[in-house]
Amino acid sequence: MEYRRLGRSGLQLSVLSFGSWVTFHGQVEDNTADELMGIAYDKGINFFDNAETYANGESELMMGRVLKKKNWDRSTYVVSSKAYFGREEKPRPNQTGLSRKHLVEACNEALGRLQLDYLDLYFCHRPDPNVPIEEVVWTMHNIIQQGKALYWGTSQWSAAEIMEAHKVAQQYCLIAPVMEQPQYNMFERFKMEQDYLPVFRSVGLGTTIWSPLAAGFLSGKYLNGIPKDSRFSMPGYEWLVKRWLQEDRIEKTRKLADLAKKIGVSLPALAIAWTIRNPETTTTAILGATKKEQLLENLKALDVPLNKEILDEMEGILQNKPHLDLQ
Ligand code: NDP
Repeated sequence: MEYRRLGRSGLQLSVLSFGSWVTFHGQVEDNTADELMGIAYDKGINFFDNAETYANGESELMMGRVLKKKNWDRSTYVVSSKAYFGREEKPRPNQTGLSRKHLVEACNEALGRLQLDYLDLYFCHRPDPNVPIEEVVWTMHNIIQQGKALYWGTSQWSAAEIMEAHKVAQQYCLIAPVMEQPQYNMFERFKMEQDYLPVFRSVGLGTTIWSPLAAGFLSGKYLNGIPKDSRFSMPGYEWLVKRWLQEDRIEKTRKLADLAKKIGVSLPALAIAWTIRNPETTTTAILGATKKEQLLENLKALDVPLNKEILDEMEGILQNKPHLDLQ
């Protein structure tokens, strides 16, 4: 396993990590969660991703039970939580968002569910236009000062929003965000390959990227319909089907599958390898899996021999590289 520094922080994360969205509680029970986290840890994965909103808190409860049972040395792994969406079906005011009240309460509750003394990473799960950025930065600074989290970051913020947080942190000598959690895969490239470039260069930014397989689409499993036991077949996830099962994307994925075959690797391994190809931008790609076989296959991304020729061939198929207009 390769380890990369999270932005300009001193923390090292495995280049592949493991997350629980949709899967924990929604698709798998404790025994499978235990098996998957065990495989991940044994293969050198040291970062486990979670959020208050995943299965309305049940995902953190499940991960907490597994961690307790595993009894791994706390210094060997990194756990995250994220606040913003809340965990109520019908939230009341202050049960969502980035107010000081919600960020503090969500942190305390996540620690309780995960049965941990501190979170390693604490994310603002989305930007919140209703809360002054000063309130967010002061709150995250104080949570870290209290020892309840070690590093803070953002998820799906724009470069401008991240820079605003840095400005405030600099102005008041507060701890600034060190990481961002954006979606990044072969069909979702703008933030990582264009918007964040000035942030990487000026203040530094670690990235814990999500949906490297586009929620499973880039595994190639949906090229001939929707398998019965897959994420796209689940009630409530029709929006994912609409997002990913589009004719041009299906066509390109077919060609990528042919290319993967030609170079002797699986499509999911190729797709994940592509997301971690640049150590200057991607710190870690968070894997999701419902089955042991998927996780083991995806870990092969570490051995895919990506070179310029293959990358060029992939660009030729994708035709979606963002480009900076420097005029
Ligand atoms: P992926 O895009 O990798 O999708 C994972 C899913 O694809 C699996 O659960 C499985 O679903 C299917 N799959 C995975 N590998 C294979 C394979 N080899 N063959 C066939 N099917 C496969 O990642 P996720 O969308 O799960 O995101 C990863 C993590 O990122 C999440 O767990 C979460 O921690 C984080 N995240 C963060 C977000 C944010 O806003 N910050 C948003 C979303 C995710 P199935 O078997 O059910 O089809």
